[in-house]
Amino acid sequence: MPQPETLDQPEKTPLVKEVPPKSKDLSAWYNAICYKAELVSLAPVRGCMVLRPYGYGLWERLQAALDERFKATGHENAYFPLLIPESLLTREAEHVEGFAPEVAWVTQGGNEVLAERLAIRPTSEVIIGTMYAEWVHSYRDLPILINQWANVMRWEKRTRPFLRSLEFLWQEGHTAHATEAEASEEVARMLEVYADVAENVAGVPVYKGEKSSSERFAGATHTYSIEALMPDGRALQAGTSHELGQNFAKAYGIEFSAEDQTLQYAWTTSWGMSWRMIGALIMVHGDDRGLRLPPKLAPLEAVIVPIVKGPSEDVTAAARELYATLKRAGLRVKLDERDERPGFKFADWEMRGVPLRIELGANDLAAGTVTIVRRDRERGEEGAKTSVPLADVGKVLPELLAAVGHSLFAQAKDFLAAHTLPATEREQFLRLCRDRAGMIDIPWCNRPECEAAVKAETRANTRNLRPLEGGETLCVACGEPAVVRAYFAQSY
Ligand SMILES: [Zn+2]
Repeated sequence: MPQPETLDQPEKTPLVKEVPPKSKDLSAWYNAICYKAELVSLAPVRGCMVLRPYGYGLWERLQAALDERFKATGHENAYFPLLIPESLLTREAEHVEGFAPEVAWVTQGGNEVLAERLAIRPTSEVIIGTMYAEWVHSYRDLPILINQWANVMRWEKRTRPFLRSLEFLWQEGHTAHATEAEASEEVARMLEVYADVAENVAGVPVYKGEKSSSERFAGATHTYSIEALMPDGRALQAGTSHELGQNFAKAYGIEFSAEDQTLQYAWTTSWGMSWRMIGALIMVHGDDRGLRLPPKLAPLEAVIVPIVKGPSEDVTAAARELYATLKRAGLRVKLDERDERPGFKFADWEMRGVPLRIELGANDLAAGTVTIVRRDRERGEEGAKTSVPLADVGKVLPELLAAVGHSLFAQAKDFLAAHTLPATEREQFLRLCRDRAGMIDIPWCNRPECEAAVKAETRANTRNLRPLEGGETLCVACGEPAVVRAYFAQSY
């Protein structure tokens, strides 16, 4: 399903009058909806974006879902500084080589030119590793299980809201362990946490697996990822979990005396998810009418629209009372009393993706009911509208919200299943990759040369790998013996 190429970010936030249809041009739709729904604005510095309150509301809820799971798995939050001395950054050779082209530098403080340049963190392994070396002496000091909520900066050439920006918000977990086995377990555990949040909170189905050697994090021994599929057939990496082996421990001196009195290097891990996940859920769930937000992340779960023709004090009073009741019940709800036509308000809240709309008019009031409209359904579709007794709204809303969440996930799951395509023969495989047909699933040789050749021909590369299922013998891409199964796709 080839579509126009990714648009570059304009210099100023464009004024969006109409959101173009999603099915025609995902890229144009995506940018338009990010601005029109007031999720973001472009900042005066190229490639930086402002997260507006509605966008920040999404981020806050994603953050809360992750944070709760990090704490439940034994982690604590801490904060490390933004600036890293150049001499520290260059100590882990592979890491610095991987990040060097994207690092922004501070060279002057006030009027003083600095004797040593300071890097603005592109990620924090270096500064955190340095501190862990100070804190760890004995096996009794391990494990260290810390997460940091932070901004980082990577000097990207092409940027897009949420998907790629110079500065972005994320979390980075950093742990140190006495044994390799513990570090491996940690990395697997956090990959599960990411998959859980992606699927059960954001409603975005993902494939879990290991990255190939050419896609591995700079300085890691193993990188694992969750990968989602966007409607244009491109994959999006939505979270990563890295085993760093003893590489960073050796570079930064994280040593401890083990139970047997020997001096050993710690085994470290890092893992991260950023606001990119928001970009994924926008693309996966949205439709031609705008956003469709998963209820668990939606800043507003429901909006009440009173339908008043002329002065109708009864409807207004009933709407306000309903609003107060729902607020008291802990629901994230808004009462829209703007001086606009109901049709305008309906379209506006649909565009912003609010999961449920509660309509209350004179007829409803006379019948003692409200009409609830689900954002996940098409207009006129079975079950899109329900009439609910006014007194039951507080009880019915949580059930309906859960139903909307399940249906968004189910729709996305169907799409992923329909666009996960096994290929058995080389030409077919290359054509599917070139056409961005989805996640192209093949037995693979796990050789960087093979991946590079596929990429040169099709712009697709491996998204992640998993064990062979048995029966496969040869790599579909090159004919060498297969050792894993791999999803190939073009990516964001
Ligand atoms: Zn191959």
